[in-house]
Amino acid sequence: MILDADIKAQLAQYLQMMEGDVLLKVSAGNDKVSNDMLELVGELAKMSPNIKVERTNLDRIPSFSVNRIGEDTGITFAGVPLGHEFTSLVLALLQVSGRAPKIDQKLMDQIKNLKGEYHFESYISLTCHNCPDVVQALNVMSLLNPGVTHTMIDGAAFKDEVESKGIMAVPTVFLNGEFFESGRMSVEDILAKLGSKPDASEFADKEPFDVLVVGGGPAGASSAIYAARKGIRTGIVAERFGGQIMDTLGIENFISVKYTEGPKLAASLEEHINEYNIDVMKSVRVEGIEKKDLIEVQLENGAVVKSKTIILATGARWRNVGVPGELEFKNKGVAYCPHCDGPIFEGKHVAVIGGGNSGIEAAIDLAGVVKHVTVIEFLPELKADKVLQERLYSLSNVTVIKNAQTKEITGTDKVNGLTYIDRDSGEEHHIELEGVFVQIGLVPNTDWLSNSAIERNRFGEIIVDKRGATNIPGVFAAGDCTDSAYKQIIISMGSGATAALSAFDYLIRN
Ligand SMILES: Cc1cc2nc3c(=O)[nH]c(=O)nc-3n(C[C@H](O)[C@H](O)[C@H](O)COP(=O)(O)OP(=O)(O)OC[C@H]3O[C@@H](n4cnc5c(N)ncnc54)[C@H](O)[C@@H]3O)c2cc1C
Repeated sequence: MILDADIKAQLAQYLQMMEGDVLLKVSAGNDKVSNDMLELVGELAKMSPNIKVERTNLDRIPSFSVNRIGEDTGITFAGVPLGHEFTSLVLALLQVSGRAPKIDQKLMDQIKNLKGEYHFESYISLTCHNCPDVVQALNVMSLLNPGVTHTMIDGAAFKDEVESKGIMAVPTVFLNGEFFESGRMSVEDILAKLGSKPDASEFADKEPFDVLVVGGGPAGASSAIYAARKGIRTGIVAERFGGQIMDTLGIENFISVKYTEGPKLAASLEEHINEYNIDVMKSVRVEGIEKKDLIEVQLENGAVVKSKTIILATGARWRNVGVPGELEFKNKGVAYCPHCDGPIFEGKHVAVIGGGNSGIEAAIDLAGVVKHVTVIEFLPELKADKVLQERLYSLSNVTVIKNAQTKEITGTDKVNGLTYIDRDSGEEHHIELEGVFVQIGLVPNTDWLSNSAIERNRFGEIIVDKRGATNIPGVFAAGDCTDSAYKQIIISMGSGATAALSAFDYLIRN
């Protein structure tokens, strides 16, 4: 039995929600993965009278497509979509059966209006928590637009294909046979990359806001909710709703919630925001800010949005190590997400640059998957918590090199090594390896403020007072983009609330 009793019980409830018949067209051989796939498809068909199965020949063996009777949707799963992809399979069954996908009408229209042929292939691993978002987004696009098709490919089942395409990170998406993008993406992100971004005309008639929040992470969401609860006109502009938590697997310190996962928390934030009258502008990047009579923010599409007060909550992103080879080999052996990309390096030798908490957590995590991990730390000692260091040193397949300055990540078409300088002796060393995980902290997303009058410290963090006020009257800031002492979800949310209450206070006094 490929599905255990608990999963079957849950699945039975979901399958009852199917609204019509679905035809699975199956292409299988005699290998083990084909047998597993046939077993999965067989169990699904036994569980719902709405699921029909027929044998066919598809491009990949094993694979199966999910169709309406008499109408192909273009959705195909190559391999066995269990693990994190099981949800993608269940959603595909429900949506193909007639249940509407949970995306807003504007996005549906954007997808339906795409012109041309888009054949997507997404390479995933079943342990990757970022992959289902991409798979589910592309499946919805296939469902809504007959010009779009999507095949999810489990890299573990199609190793030769992964090797020949030089794929070293998941999810990696190909469009019409060419590399398209790597990493987590929402429907909005994919549409934006295809050139279908919200048009400047969509912003032309917007009345000025009382509070406009820039950033849709925990700080921005909290600011917007606190502002809207005062009954004032509130808007939120975000390039990628959810922010860093979209890249976070387990969260155990969001007080009152013992355990959650980043994407789940991001979905709850969005749901909470949607309870209020907040104008949410997603997939839009802000490129400038200027104080005139009102405060004006310039969007990347050329539109200008005005507000009486602004809350900057643009957060932070991974810091690059900034050595030759890092950018050239990004997704060709240079990676930033151990949870996502670790499985691709199974049985291989990798390095982790950085000996802080995130670096050592990554090294411990990777040691369970790869053959060997070398940790490279610039300082003479690791900075990670003692408990993490003890765990690291208990592992037999880890080497720690301290006081080492990474000089270059080497490779030809993909990473083949790393050169570092021993800071004690000045000697140069080269290690042969196949992957490098960069884990050296974060930089604030404030570069776009460089032509503004808003004061930042030498790290680029926005300087705020205890009320979240910047040096410009009416402009407030919150979360990881500020000079706050600690960068955490709960702290960002708290500072978002502070900034919103301060903005409200400013409005009633001015
Ligand atoms: C891998 C990882 C694991 C973590 N684990 C934990 C944990 O377990 N517990 C914990 O408390 N914290 C954790 N953190 C830290 C936590 O995620 C951050 O402190 C928190 O997300 C900061 O929230 P924020 O809203 O300030 O910024 P972000 O989450 O960075 O959000 C910034 C928002 O601004 C948007 N934005 C940026 N620039 C622009 C622009 N120019 N125009 C428009 N929008 C823009 C972004 O798209 C995003 O919506 C983790 C972080 C990482 C990376």
